[in-house]
Amino acid sequence: MVQAEHDVALQDTDRLEGRAALVNNVKAAVALAGAVRSTLGPRGLDKMLVSDDGNCLVTNDGVTVIEAAKVEHPTARLLISASSSQDKSARDGTTSTVILTAELLQNSLELVRMGIHPSVVINGFLLAEREAISELDRVSRKADSTEELKSVISTTLAGKIGESLASHMTEIAFDAADLLSDEEGGDDLERLRIKRLQVSGGSTIDSRLVNGLMIAKTRVDISTPSSSDGGIIAILDGGLENAKLEMDAEIEVSSPGVLKGFHDRSLEKLREAVIHLSSLGVELLIVRDGISDDAISMLSEAGITSYRRFEREDLERLSKITGTRMVRRPTRISEDDLGRFTSRGEETVAGITHTVIEGSEGGALTAVIRGTSPQIREEAVRAFDDAMGVSFRVIRDSRIIPGGGAIQTHLARHLRSFALGNPGREQLAIEGYAAALEVIPRTLAENAGLDPIDVVLDLSAAQTSDEENGHWIGLDAMTGRKTRMDEMGILDPLFVTRHSISGSTEAAISVLRINDVLWAKQDPTTPEWNDEEGLEE
Ligand code: ADP
Ligand code: MG
Repeated sequence: MVQAEHDVALQDTDRLEGRAALVNNVKAAVALAGAVRSTLGPRGLDKMLVSDDGNCLVTNDGVTVIEAAKVEHPTARLLISASSSQDKSARDGTTSTVILTAELLQNSLELVRMGIHPSVVINGFLLAEREAISELDRVSRKADSTEELKSVISTTLAGKIGESLASHMTEIAFDAADLLSDEEGGDDLERLRIKRLQVSGGSTIDSRLVNGLMIAKTRVDISTPSSSDGGIIAILDGGLENAKLEMDAEIEVSSPGVLKGFHDRSLEKLREAVIHLSSLGVELLIVRDGISDDAISMLSEAGITSYRRFEREDLERLSKITGTRMVRRPTRISEDDLGRFTSRGEETVAGITHTVIEGSEGGALTAVIRGTSPQIREEAVRAFDDAMGVSFRVIRDSRIIPGGGAIQTHLARHLRSFALGNPGREQLAIEGYAAALEVIPRTLAENAGLDPIDVVLDLSAAQTSDEENGHWIGLDAMTGRKTRMDEMGILDPLFVTRHSISGSTEAAISVLRINDVLWAKQDPTTPEWNDEEGLEE
């Protein structure tokens, strides 16, 4: 494109190039990190999020905070997606990821201001990342007891909820994860197999695990048995109702018998469907939509217990655990579509009758989350989700590392000596990377009301003085002591930190690669982020 065409093409955009683009992007990242840093660690504070319609949510969870924030800046969005990806694959470490990315970016800006080209910074960061990950793997070790695994989960929950609830949730989540430990399946297995059911009333401490899938529903006809030791189940992805006379359908009522004939035919269809199900030996019928009164009595007569208006998620879970295929029309159901349930019963929770179904094709569990208000239950569910996500993964990969900023302090020390072996300007980038890692112990200290510089220096000195096990020395934010994290049970899963370090590096690098930002002028948010104050061009 010749220059003149170029200018025409860009006339509707604001443009930031080179350093200005980087400064603007780093500012956005730092602003976002600023919004979540005070939540990091067990002494982190809660945030109250208020939405447009006045609903409020109190949380200590980094990813919840930033996903709820209405952020428009593209760089900030990039950080948010790094944090969401961390949440998705590791289920923890989201706040750390945002803070670390922002710190990496801030340090790279310093390097660029010193005259180092962004591509050199990128190379240095990649070298540092590779070295950090391999050192991380080297110093990790397998958890050596169930107690230690539970400590990992407690560390995840620290500061999110009260201690007694945290240990209660840890027990529940751990038991649930244990049940799934031999099952094949990806990261979403636990979501699929473990239902979270909120029941109002009661204390969060009354939350518990129920074997099987629990639903806040009862059978449509109470004359059918309330429990069963198992049998054949069919799932209908539709309704079982009388055919309706549509308002706009034209039926010529030529004789008094026409309407009755229509009604009879629709009953006949229902009867056919029920006879078909009965001939297949179906004992339990689950229906997504409604079941008409006529159908209810026919089903009961045929000895089929039925339930209606199941939610999609429950239908899917039930279909999985019983090996049943959902079918739209009852008469289309064939033998192959049927599954087996192994028990069905009722249980009263908070005065409401619930149904519990267990399947033959693998375990399902329901975490019954109690609490007096929706806010309390939501927060308890999030705590359970965290505990569950981490338990599920840590039972499969039980390698652990010290928490409390110990590992980052160790990696920073390690990278500083690694940097010396790299001649050239990359050395400076590796040092910048090392310093960025220390943002974690620094922030943990800050949030515990301690002096961040002292803490980082003390930790580093304490680690250096113990050649063999120094890297286990971190900050216990509850007491302010610098001590062995394995002795205090402040342990993080390797995969969380590993993912966080590589996710942050990747996000920072993708921002560093941007050399040109073109803002569509009609974007009303541009001016807000585009103030050039403090730019040192
Ligand atoms: P994230 O979203 O990054 O997981 P958290 O608020 O959960 O953020 O904080 C996690 C950090 O808190 C980890 O680095 C973990 O090692 C640290 N941590 C947890 N418990 C303690 C503790 N008692 N003392 C010091 N650090 C702790
Ligand atoms: Mg966490």
